[in-house]
Amino acid sequence: MELGIRGKTALVTGASKGIGRAVALALAEEGARVFLVARSRERLAELAEAIREKGAEADYLATDLAHEDAAEKILERLKGFGEAELFLGNTGGPPPGSAFELSPEAWSRAFEALFLPMVRLVRGLVPGMQARGFGRLVFITSISVKEPVENLALSNGIRAGLTGYLKTLSRELAPHGITVNAVGPGYTKTERVEALLAHQAEREGISPEEAERRLEATIPMRRLGRPEEIAAAAVFLMGVPAGYITGQTLIVDGGYVRGLL
Ligand code: NAD
Repeated sequence: MELGIRGKTALVTGASKGIGRAVALALAEEGARVFLVARSRERLAELAEAIREKGAEADYLATDLAHEDAAEKILERLKGFGEAELFLGNTGGPPPGSAFELSPEAWSRAFEALFLPMVRLVRGLVPGMQARGFGRLVFITSISVKEPVENLALSNGIRAGLTGYLKTLSRELAPHGITVNAVGPGYTKTERVEALLAHQAEREGISPEEAERRLEATIPMRRLGRPEEIAAAAVFLMGVPAGYITGQTLIVDGGYVRGLL
């Protein structure tokens, strides 16, 4: 399928590792020009180089999305690279914790890190998309929007809120040719999940391999997802042929969520 995004400019946040990195590489494969954002300058420089080696254009900005002025800095630097028609809104996951025990401060920090940067970036990017009559906004959320994950109350709460915001936004922007969707990954083999498994292994006195095997046994596909498999869904939603899909969350989880819809 021809996605029709060759030469289009994409902004990818949380791009240095895991799912964001896989999306950046997949967009480059499709010929998009990619502007990368994450905290680590070294990782971003290495990824930008890998993208250029594929023959696509890339630039980057190392900044912390949780800082209030990050979006402004990103939008300013992006001006010199191109006007983004594609946006992958991705951030690092919040810390674990139970709904009762998490403090109001922890909720506030998670809102600052996961929700507000997306609102700020959307407000900066959408006017250019409206002027062109084309835009694709795709956000990485989680299976937690369909089925809350135990001890991940921040993800369960904030991402449900983000999904409400995205659904509302999708109806507002649809008349302008702009689609707004989310991809909800299930358990995907990234550094974040490897760290969570190592932590669990230590707590339970088992090896990280055994912790991974136990997790795999809960997934109908009997394996963790690969970042490239999440990226394939996100990049499809950014393509021209996906232009009639908006306001949706596409769950990519190897069959993990039991819900009907
Ligand atoms: P990851 O930790 O491997 O990568 C996260 C990326 O975001 C990295 O590039 C990191 O540098 C960047 N980042 C983190 N905090 C940042 C900040 N404050 N400012 C700028 N950049 C920041 O995570 P991942 O596994 O690729 O997950 C991506 C998203 O998908 C996360 O929100 C995660 O919670 C969610 N998710 C992941 C899984 C999974 O199994 N991997 C499952 C469900 C949801």
